[in-house]
Amino acid sequence: MGYENALVPRRHLNGGSSLKSFKHRLFCIHRHLVILSVANLSFEGINTSAPKIFPVFIAKTFHSTRGNKWKVAADGRGSVARKWIGFAVQEQSNPFYMAGVLLTDVKAPTDTIYFIFNPDLGMCAVLIPLGNCRFRAYFIYPKTVGYRLQGDSMLRLFTSESPKVYPPLAEYYAEAKSIGPLASFDASDSWVEHPYRDGVVLVGDAAATTDPTFGQGLSLALRDARTLRDELSKDSDWAAAASRYADQRRVYFRTWHTVEAWLRTLFQDPSPEAAALRAKAMPLIAQDPTRVPDHIHSGLDLPLNEQVRARMFGEY
Ligand SMILES: Cc1cc2nc3c(=O)[nH]c(=O)nc-3n(C[C@H](O)[C@H](O)[C@H](O)COP(=O)(O)OP(=O)(O)OC[C@H]3O[C@@H](n4cnc5c(N)ncnc54)[C@H](O)[C@@H]3O)c2cc1C
Repeated sequence: MGYENALVPRRHLNGGSSLKSFKHRLFCIHRHLVILSVANLSFEGINTSAPKIFPVFIAKTFHSTRGNKWKVAADGRGSVARKWIGFAVQEQSNPFYMAGVLLTDVKAPTDTIYFIFNPDLGMCAVLIPLGNCRFRAYFIYPKTVGYRLQGDSMLRLFTSESPKVYPPLAEYYAEAKSIGPLASFDASDSWVEHPYRDGVVLVGDAAATTDPTFGQGLSLALRDARTLRDELSKDSDWAAAASRYADQRRVYFRTWHTVEAWLRTLFQDPSPEAAALRAKAMPLIAQDPTRVPDHIHSGLDLPLNEQVRARMFGEY
């Protein structure tokens, strides 16, 4: 499919939709504050007996008024905490890298976000204007291409490869300069089935890392905070509350993991089998974009069943 036939040329989000931006470090702090404020726990600061076990800042010890003692670990995708505690980690290898860089001197419209898939190549390009002449740019590409975009010296490769997805990017990037590091990440998923054990709760990427192409990681992390807070607020038995959090986490993570796989097949998989699925599905989606389930924007409580799948793939 050429770029001129792209399925969804432009989408205007309504007022209820939120774009996801994130400040990682601040978020870690806020999450703890949310849990604390609503569950009415007493927070005793960083547990000075813990640093040998948990690095400062990523795992905090909470003490309830009833004597429970308990840790929340939020140390991200390479979580050391989950290794130390011995959580079993499941992994699914996804065949893509996602490279990202902050750019300036991009000659692109400043009122448009570009999020464009080229499934024939298994590539995706994203360009997001941030204001003040800054643009966040991403390029998602198959691991089989033979390069790994890392470091400033590879910026030219980033800007010359991205237009394969959408040729106007060549002009937009002609004079682009990086104002942040160029780095790429493995887009694979990894997760812990039950992210609570022995007084330790995992939240955010420490509990599960999802394919960053679809930008759901922060939403999942925030939902973790809310779910954990709600369960803690209900029950003075923290182990039971944490276990209920972990049960719910498994369900909503599974929902996203399933939808993510469908989206990857439809929009990123260059195999002949996926191309055949697209040939059937895309004309129907073009007529009615609601065939693509909207869990990305509307949340993981939307229905997920065989009917949703079949409708997306144009089987009826
Ligand atoms: C390229 C890319 C693009 C993404 N785009 C989006 C998007 O658009 N929308 C979205 O929702 N999500 C996106 N994500 C995912 C999102 O970044 C994560 O899901 C989210 O940051 C998870 O938050 P967290 O607090 O669990 O982990 P993190 O944000 O990774 O925070 C963990 C923190 O722990 C610290 N830490 C780790 N180990 C130690 C240690 N040993 N000692 C001290 N500190 C430590 C880290 O420095 C970090 O500050 C993207 C991810 C990638 C890789």
